Amino acid sequence: MFCSDLGERWHSARIEPTIGHLDAASAGRSSMATIKAISDHLLREAQLGSYVAATEQGGVLAGGRRALASLIGHRPEELSYRDSARTCLRALLNSWKIPVAGTVWVASNEFGPNLDEFERRELVVRTMPAADVYGHVDVDALENMLQFEQPDFIHVCHIGSASGIVQPVPQIVEVAHYAGVPVVVDMAQSVGHVPTVTGADVVYGTARKWLTGPRGVGFIAVRDDVLRPVSVDSSEPYVAGQLGLAQAVSEVLEIGQQKVFRELAAIGRTTRERLDGIGSWEVLEPVDEPSALVTLAPPPGWEPSDVATAQRRLAEQGLLVTCADSWRAPLATEQSVLRISPHLDVEREQLDQLAAALRTMGY
Ligand SMILES: *Cc1c(COP(=O)(O)O)cnc(C)c1O
Repeated sequence: MFCSDLGERWHSARIEPTIGHLDAASAGRSSMATIKAISDHLLREAQLGSYVAATEQGGVLAGGRRALASLIGHRPEELSYRDSARTCLRALLNSWKIPVAGTVWVASNEFGPNLDEFERRELVVRTMPAADVYGHVDVDALENMLQFEQPDFIHVCHIGSASGIVQPVPQIVEVAHYAGVPVVVDMAQSVGHVPTVTGADVVYGTARKWLTGPRGVGFIAVRDDVLRPVSVDSSEPYVAGQLGLAQAVSEVLEIGQQKVFRELAAIGRTTRERLDGIGSWEVLEPVDEPSALVTLAPPPGWEPSDVATAQRRLAEQGLLVTCADSWRAPLATEQSVLRISPHLDVEREQLDQLAAALRTMGY
């Protein structure tokens, strides 16, 4: 039985999985129509010639650009595609004229590889204060800090890679803009998952996670008036992938983005309620955090390698989840957690199976 009343629709648009796929945060399952949009274009490339085929699809590509732009609150012309979220960030940092020894403020859920990019660019990184033990940014404290000091920019992971916490991005943008500080948002885990019209200056993300588009397509949107000229365009576009992403976005918009976000939040709640405390595994988000990314801390005394072993044993039982090690959020934690990220077609029986398996692996 599907947890959501969108489950049947989402499920029937996709091939039957041979595993319990609870890992949208790594890569979601693409619909058959998305796969067909990609493969049809690959065939056209061989029939017509790749450049002719791309021109022929110009209208569809433009429609996809408009749809994605509307989802992230930018104008279509502000959007560029690259092969991953990380290359988008790197392109931004390479072309943006930030002063020597520039500063960036981040939240405690910052993605480790992003910190590596900041280090490569020799930026001084400072962590914004948190309002609670979960690591939500304390917007009032931030507003105060900004009266005395302004970083060159604020960078926030809307949702990080090792926690389902949703950062209050619109509020952060509001106080940052009041102080004249631009905000860059990593939407790799939030696009297609939670509302992403935030007013931020630069946003970037990836097709393959909650949007269930293809691998190999990242996107970045840079607000025109703030940061130009930055050049973040990819020299060699993956046109078939962009068409796949366009199809995936159209499916979310067809259902209604708010409906998708509401149902994913409800699935997160159901998952947390079902799993918390089982075998001494502990859910790390508030039960009603509005995301479907759920993390579980292992029973006391477990080493990171024990969590990796648990993940492998779940895989052997046909349940796909991630062992999220501390490199994903080095400012927040030293422990490894299990990351459960079901999409709209999750079934109650899968959560029951996961709970039963965790019970045997806990205390
Ligand atoms: C997955 C992820 C990324 C990186 O995306 P790629 O497309 O693999 O580069 C960046 N930030 C967060 C929070 C992620 O979860």
